[in-house]
Amino acid sequence: MAVGEARQPVAFVMFGSPGSGKGTQSKFLVQWLGIPQISTGDMLRDHMRRGTQIGRDIAGLMRAGSLVSDDLVNELVRIRIAEPDCSRGVILDGYPRTPEQAEALVPLLNGVGWFEVVIHLAVDYNIVVSRMTGRRACPQCGTLYNALTRPPLREGICDVDGAVLAVRDDDREDVVRQRLDQYEARTRPLIDYFRNTGARLLEVDASRERPEAVFERIRAGVMGIVPGLPDGLPTAQGMNS
Ligand code: AMP
Repeated sequence: MAVGEARQPVAFVMFGSPGSGKGTQSKFLVQWLGIPQISTGDMLRDHMRRGTQIGRDIAGLMRAGSLVSDDLVNELVRIRIAEPDCSRGVILDGYPRTPEQAEALVPLLNGVGWFEVVIHLAVDYNIVVSRMTGRRACPQCGTLYNALTRPPLREGICDVDGAVLAVRDDDREDVVRQRLDQYEARTRPLIDYFRNTGARLLEVDASRERPEAVFERIRAGVMGIVPGLPDGLPTAQGMNS
């Protein structure tokens, strides 16, 4: 069973600083709810990998850890959300990130009868820096690892497909600090925006526990907000993918 079969579709907004675990928790939610994850960071990196005009235009900003233009991400999300697989709801990972993006998103969702649940993953600054600089990603399947909390079985090698793991350019320490500065200045204030617009807001401490334990608290909190969601947990296999 998936979200919104007999009710309003829900946009789950994964909100938190870079390195707070939005990507990992989004994947758990995908397993649980069967609705797609929309990661603006992944969409933008995909443009860079494919060498599109958009990819060439944003490469400098992405490498520096700066935000790309609101108009661009608003348009990417607007088009993606209209695709058929999103009709029962979506998990927004890394969007909205500025008041201008939220002001574009919220009326868009409300206009089509969706409501949003904002999941705020709160983490300590120093924990985020060490998490992010230890982060590795599979360039082929996108599985995320972390030297500290989620190491691969063989160092530097993806458990799923054996590809050599990579450090994202923007996970280098200087860039990480720039991304965190941007978060503080432009994204964190959005919490007040969400409060004022009456969005359902779930605050979760995501600092210390293992990702599975954080997800358990998200799941319990979401079930308290959105009635009728499936009880069953993803399988252990699913939790690691
Ligand atoms: P992420 O993987 O979500 O941490 O995003 C990586 C990078 O993509 C960010 O540092 C920005 O350069 C860009 N980016 C991703 N999402 C957004 C967004 N919603 N608004 C502006 N820039 C974004």
